[in-house]
Amino acid sequence: MSLFNKVRAVYNNVGYQCRLLGEIIYPRRCAVCQTEIDTGYFCEVCRKNFALHKMVEGFDNLDKVLMIYKYHQNLQEAIHNVKFAEEKSLLPLLKEEAQLGVTDDLEKLLTDYDIITCVPTSPERKAERGFDVPAEIFAFFNSERWQPNLLKRVRNTLPLFDLEPSLRKQEVAGCFEVEQSILGKSVLICDDIFTTGSTLSEAALALRKAGAKRVTALTFTASKDNW
Ligand SMILES: [Zn+2]
Repeated sequence: MSLFNKVRAVYNNVGYQCRLLGEIIYPRRCAVCQTEIDTGYFCEVCRKNFALHKMVEGFDNLDKVLMIYKYHQNLQEAIHNVKFAEEKSLLPLLKEEAQLGVTDDLEKLLTDYDIITCVPTSPERKAERGFDVPAEIFAFFNSERWQPNLLKRVRNTLPLFDLEPSLRKQEVAGCFEVEQSILGKSVLICDDIFTTGSTLSEAALALRKAGAKRVTALTFTASKDNW
Protein backbone atom coordinates (compact mmCIF):
# COMPACT_ATOMS: atom_id res chain seq x y z
CA MET A 1 0.00 0.00 0.00
CA SER A 2 1.43 3.40 -0.97
CA LEU A 3 2.04 6.07 1.67
CA PHE A 4 -0.79 8.12 0.15
CA ASN A 5 -3.22 5.19 0.54
CA LYS A 6 -2.03 4.53 4.09
CA VAL A 7 -2.62 8.14 5.05
CA ARG A 8 -6.02 8.05 3.41
CA ALA A 9 -6.97 4.77 5.15
CA VAL A 10 -6.13 6.34 8.52
CA TYR A 11 -8.04 9.49 7.57
CA ASN A 12 -11.09 7.43 6.54
CA ASN A 13 -10.98 5.39 9.73
CA VAL A 14 -10.65 8.54 11.84
CA GLY A 15 -13.61 9.92 9.88
CA TYR A 16 -15.74 6.93 10.86
CA GLN A 17 -14.62 7.01 14.51
CA CYS A 18 -15.47 10.72 14.63
CA ARG A 19 -18.88 9.93 13.17
CA LEU A 20 -19.50 7.36 15.94
CA LEU A 21 -18.24 9.76 18.63
CA GLY A 22 -20.37 12.51 17.12
CA GLU A 23 -23.41 10.24 17.45
CA ILE A 24 -23.13 10.56 21.24
CA ILE A 25 -23.91 14.26 20.91
CA TYR A 26 -25.74 14.22 17.59
CA PRO A 27 -27.66 10.94 17.33
CA ARG A 28 -27.69 9.17 13.99
CA ARG A 29 -30.69 10.12 11.88
CA CYS A 30 -32.53 8.46 9.00
CA ALA A 31 -31.10 9.78 5.71
CA VAL A 32 -34.64 10.44 4.42
CA CYS A 33 -36.92 11.59 7.25
CA GLN A 34 -34.32 12.50 9.92
CA THR A 35 -35.96 10.30 12.59
CA GLU A 36 -33.42 9.22 15.23
CA ILE A 37 -32.05 5.71 14.52
CA ASP A 38 -29.54 3.35 16.20
CA THR A 39 -28.38 1.36 13.21
CA GLY A 40 -28.19 1.49 9.41
CA TYR A 41 -28.87 4.43 7.13
CA PHE A 42 -32.69 4.54 7.20
CA CYS A 43 -35.48 4.20 9.75
CA GLU A 44 -37.73 1.14 9.47
CA VAL A 45 -40.46 3.05 7.66
CA CYS A 46 -38.13 4.51 5.02
CA ARG A 47 -36.30 1.20 4.66
CA LYS A 48 -39.59 -0.37 3.50
CA ASN A 49 -39.78 2.21 0.71
CA PHE A 50 -36.39 1.09 -0.58
CA ALA A 51 -36.95 -2.65 -0.11
CA LEU A 52 -37.25 -4.60 -3.35
CA HIS A 53 -36.68 -8.23 -2.27
CA LYS A 54 -37.08 -9.51 -5.77
CA MET A 55 -35.94 -12.86 -7.13
CA VAL A 56 -35.36 -13.65 -10.80
CA GLU A 57 -34.72 -17.27 -11.79
CA GLY A 58 -32.41 -18.22 -14.66
CA PHE A 59 -30.47 -15.18 -15.79
CA ASP A 60 -27.65 -16.00 -18.23
CA ASN A 61 -25.02 -17.92 -16.23
CA LEU A 62 -26.80 -17.30 -12.93
CA ASP A 63 -29.36 -19.69 -11.47
CA LYS A 64 -31.01 -16.87 -9.58
CA VAL A 65 -30.64 -13.18 -8.86
CA LEU A 66 -31.78 -11.85 -5.47
CA MET A 67 -32.09 -8.08 -5.19
CA ILE A 68 -32.38 -6.40 -1.79
CA TYR A 69 -33.04 -2.69 -2.36
CA LYS A 70 -34.05 -0.26 -5.08
CA TYR A 71 -31.19 1.78 -6.46
CA HIS A 72 -32.74 5.23 -6.23
CA GLN A 73 -32.87 8.52 -4.34
CA ASN A 74 -30.83 8.60 -1.10
CA LEU A 75 -29.47 5.08 -1.54
CA GLN A 76 -28.29 5.81 -5.08
CA GLU A 77 -26.69 9.02 -3.81
CA ALA A 78 -24.98 7.23 -0.89
CA ILE A 79 -23.49 4.51 -3.12
CA HIS A 80 -22.37 7.15 -5.60
CA ASN A 81 -20.72 9.19 -2.85
CA VAL A 82 -18.93 6.15 -1.46
CA LYS A 83 -17.61 5.24 -4.91
CA PHE A 84 -16.82 8.60 -6.42
CA ALA A 85 -16.65 11.15 -3.61
CA GLU A 86 -14.65 8.91 -1.26
CA GLU A 87 -17.16 9.14 1.58
CA LYS A 88 -15.82 6.00 3.18
CA SER A 89 -17.51 6.79 6.49
CA LEU A 90 -20.86 5.89 4.84
CA LEU A 91 -19.68 2.33 4.13
CA PRO A 92 -20.29 0.89 7.64
CA LEU A 93 -23.81 2.35 7.55
CA LEU A 94 -24.50 0.72 4.17
CA LYS A 95 -23.08 -2.55 5.48
CA GLU A 96 -25.56 -2.43 8.38
CA GLU A 97 -28.29 -1.52 5.90
CA ALA A 98 -27.42 -4.58 3.75
CA GLN A 99 -27.52 -6.82 6.82
CA LEU A 100 -30.89 -5.37 7.84
CA GLY A 101 -32.11 -5.97 4.27
CA VAL A 102 -31.28 -9.69 4.50
CA THR A 103 -34.55 -10.44 6.27
CA ASP A 104 -35.41 -13.89 7.67
CA ASP A 105 -37.19 -14.89 4.44
CA LEU A 106 -34.15 -13.99 2.37
CA GLU A 107 -31.75 -15.57 4.85
CA LYS A 108 -33.58 -18.90 4.46
CA LEU A 109 -32.67 -18.83 0.75
CA LEU A 110 -29.00 -18.25 1.56
CA THR A 111 -28.33 -21.20 3.87
CA ASP A 112 -27.32 -23.85 1.34
CA TYR A 113 -24.37 -22.12 -0.32
CA ASP A 114 -20.86 -23.47 0.28
CA ILE A 115 -19.08 -20.27 -0.69
CA ILE A 116 -20.09 -16.60 -0.50
CA THR A 117 -17.97 -14.24 -2.56
CA CYS A 118 -18.22 -10.88 -4.33
CA VAL A 119 -17.41 -9.18 -7.63
CA PRO A 120 -13.89 -7.73 -7.36
CA THR A 121 -13.16 -4.13 -8.34
CA SER A 122 -10.21 -3.70 -10.69
CA PRO A 123 -6.90 -3.47 -8.78
CA GLU A 124 -6.37 0.08 -10.11
CA ARG A 125 -9.78 1.31 -8.94
CA LYS A 126 -9.34 -0.46 -5.62
CA ALA A 127 -5.93 1.22 -5.16
CA GLU A 128 -7.49 4.62 -5.97
CA ARG A 129 -10.35 4.16 -3.52
CA GLY A 130 -8.52 2.13 -0.93
CA PHE A 131 -11.40 -0.36 -0.68
CA ASP A 132 -13.67 -2.68 -2.62
CA VAL A 133 -17.35 -1.65 -2.25
CA PRO A 134 -19.07 -5.11 -2.50
CA ALA A 135 -16.44 -6.67 -0.19
CA GLU A 136 -17.13 -3.98 2.43
CA ILE A 137 -20.93 -3.97 2.16
CA PHE A 138 -21.27 -7.76 2.43
CA ALA A 139 -18.49 -8.30 5.00
CA PHE A 140 -21.23 -9.01 7.58
CA PHE A 141 -21.31 -12.60 6.25
CA ASN A 142 -17.87 -12.95 7.86
CA SER A 143 -18.06 -16.75 8.30
CA GLU A 144 -16.02 -19.65 6.96
CA ARG A 145 -18.15 -19.43 3.81
CA TRP A 146 -17.09 -15.82 3.11
CA GLN A 147 -14.27 -15.78 0.52
CA PRO A 148 -14.17 -12.23 -0.89
CA ASN A 149 -10.95 -12.83 -2.87
CA LEU A 150 -12.06 -15.92 -4.80
CA LEU A 151 -12.45 -14.11 -8.14
CA LYS A 152 -9.57 -12.18 -9.70
CA ARG A 153 -9.75 -9.54 -12.40
CA VAL A 154 -7.23 -10.60 -15.02
CA ARG A 155 -7.56 -7.43 -17.09
CA ASN A 156 -9.01 -3.97 -16.80
CA THR A 157 -12.38 -3.07 -18.27
CA LEU A 158 -13.89 0.27 -19.27
CA PRO A 159 -16.58 1.72 -16.99
CA LEU A 160 -19.77 -0.01 -18.17
CA PHE A 161 -22.37 2.70 -17.51
CA ASP A 162 -21.72 4.41 -20.89
CA LEU A 163 -21.87 1.20 -22.93
CA GLU A 164 -24.80 -0.46 -24.70
CA PRO A 165 -25.79 -3.84 -23.15
CA SER A 166 -24.31 -5.84 -26.08
CA LEU A 167 -21.01 -3.95 -25.79
CA ARG A 168 -20.95 -4.48 -22.01
CA LYS A 169 -20.87 -8.25 -22.55
CA GLN A 170 -17.95 -7.92 -24.96
CA GLU A 171 -16.13 -5.57 -22.61
CA VAL A 172 -16.24 -7.96 -19.64
CA ALA A 173 -15.69 -11.22 -21.60
CA GLY A 174 -12.88 -13.20 -19.98
CA CYS A 175 -12.04 -10.51 -17.41
CA PHE A 176 -12.37 -12.85 -14.38
CA GLU A 177 -10.49 -15.92 -13.26
CA VAL A 178 -10.77 -18.32 -10.34
CA GLU A 179 -7.44 -19.84 -9.36
CA GLN A 180 -8.71 -22.65 -7.14
CA SER A 181 -10.97 -25.59 -7.91
CA ILE A 182 -14.47 -25.20 -6.55
CA LEU A 183 -15.77 -28.42 -8.06
CA GLY A 184 -19.37 -29.16 -7.18
CA LYS A 185 -19.74 -26.11 -4.93
CA SER A 186 -22.74 -23.81 -4.68
CA VAL A 187 -21.63 -20.20 -4.83
CA LEU A 188 -23.40 -17.00 -3.82
CA ILE A 189 -21.85 -13.96 -5.47
CA CYS A 190 -22.54 -10.47 -4.12
CA ASP A 191 -22.42 -7.08 -5.84
CA ASP A 192 -23.53 -3.54 -5.02
CA ILE A 193 -25.73 -2.75 -8.05
CA PHE A 194 -27.59 -4.95 -10.53
CA THR A 195 -28.08 -3.19 -13.88
CA THR A 196 -27.77 -5.30 -17.04
CA GLY A 197 -26.16 -8.17 -15.11
CA SER A 198 -23.31 -8.53 -17.63
CA THR A 199 -20.53 -8.31 -15.01
CA LEU A 200 -22.26 -10.75 -12.64
CA SER A 201 -22.99 -13.17 -15.49
CA GLU A 202 -19.34 -13.07 -16.58
CA ALA A 203 -18.21 -13.67 -12.99
CA ALA A 204 -20.64 -16.61 -12.80
CA LEU A 205 -19.12 -18.05 -15.99
CA ALA A 206 -15.62 -17.94 -14.43
CA LEU A 207 -17.00 -19.66 -11.30
CA ARG A 208 -18.63 -22.37 -13.42
CA LYS A 209 -15.41 -22.92 -15.37
CA ALA A 210 -13.71 -23.50 -12.00
CA GLY A 211 -16.31 -26.19 -11.24
CA ALA A 212 -19.18 -24.41 -9.44
CA LYS A 213 -22.41 -26.38 -9.87
CA ARG A 214 -24.69 -23.51 -8.91
CA VAL A 215 -24.17 -19.74 -8.91
CA THR A 216 -26.66 -17.26 -7.46
CA ALA A 217 -26.26 -13.49 -7.28
CA LEU A 218 -27.19 -11.36 -4.28
CA THR A 219 -27.19 -7.64 -5.01
CA PHE A 220 -27.46 -4.80 -2.51
CA THR A 221 -29.47 -2.72 -5.01
CA ALA A 222 -31.01 -3.01 -8.47
CA SER A 223 -31.56 -0.32 -11.10
CA LYS A 224 -35.12 0.75 -11.95
CA ASP A 225 -35.50 -1.37 -15.11
CA ASN A 226 -35.13 -4.47 -12.91
CA TRP A 227 -37.89 -3.60 -10.42
ZN1 LIG B 1 -36.97 7.55 7.80
